[in-house]
Amino acid sequence: MKDIATKKNTEYLLQKYGMYATKKFGQNFLIDKNIITKIIGTTPINKETCVIEIGPGLGALSEQLSYHAGKVICFEIDTRLKELLKESLGDCKNLEVIFQDFLTVDLETLVNDIKKEYKHVCIVANLPYYITSEILEKVIISNASIDSMHVMVQKEVALKLTDGRLKSPLTYMIDCIGHASYAMSVSKNVFMPAPHIESAILCITKERDYNEILTDILKIAFTQKRKTIANNLKKVFQERTNEILEECHINNKSRPEELSLDDYIRLTKYL
Ligand code: SAM
Repeated sequence: MKDIATKKNTEYLLQKYGMYATKKFGQNFLIDKNIITKIIGTTPINKETCVIEIGPGLGALSEQLSYHAGKVICFEIDTRLKELLKESLGDCKNLEVIFQDFLTVDLETLVNDIKKEYKHVCIVANLPYYITSEILEKVIISNASIDSMHVMVQKEVALKLTDGRLKSPLTYMIDCIGHASYAMSVSKNVFMPAPHIESAILCITKERDYNEILTDILKIAFTQKRKTIANNLKKVFQERTNEILEECHINNKSRPEELSLDDYIRLTKYL
């Protein structure tokens, strides 16, 4: 099939295979080729790139990715889509669909295998919004040597992750490996069914490996965001807390979001 991303082709495929979009899997299919061109425009992909796509759905984005990339590997959780995807993506010979929950994929092994053949690896997706954070976290903390991620997420999430003033464990994790940028806002009208919220394209470039122990410290530090760093750490480090903070030159009255990434890295190393 050619140009899956139209309202007509989407309706045709859904009807032919007795399919419907399910909220359970965060299914909002893209029905606008322009937005797909724009998503791909945010990526550096070429024939030396293998793209990992999370959730091909009916194949709208996957199809266009296959024209630009050397190879596309898609992970789809919804096995109802097997026959439909055979028809919609049957002509894309450099594309493989694996029916597996992306959250269970051994990303490091997968990327190591890909790297035997392809110079670059990018993750591109119109993400299922119900697991946005889990997916971002999985990719960030894995040691997989991907170049970058280019994903459709809720606009609010993209804004939070790219506004330097709003800190969360995820923003520190992103800072640890590289940086995030807000590529563009996306209207509800390019999806079927249209989601209730606005969307945006978020890009994350990976420049360094992740510091694995950082995650534990961040989770403890942000247990209660409104409390001071000392109060949160006390639950784990008890009476040693003030001494630890002093050794790391961190003011014990600071709130967790007032610490810099370097403060957290010093804490991680000290502990
Ligand atoms: N890429 C298609 C498009 O843009 O039209 C579909 C995007 S839709 C927002 C999200 C897709 O992710 C759906 O196909 C859904 O079934 C799939 N999905 C949901 N959870 C998943 C998971 N844990 N692993 C892999 N795919 C998942």
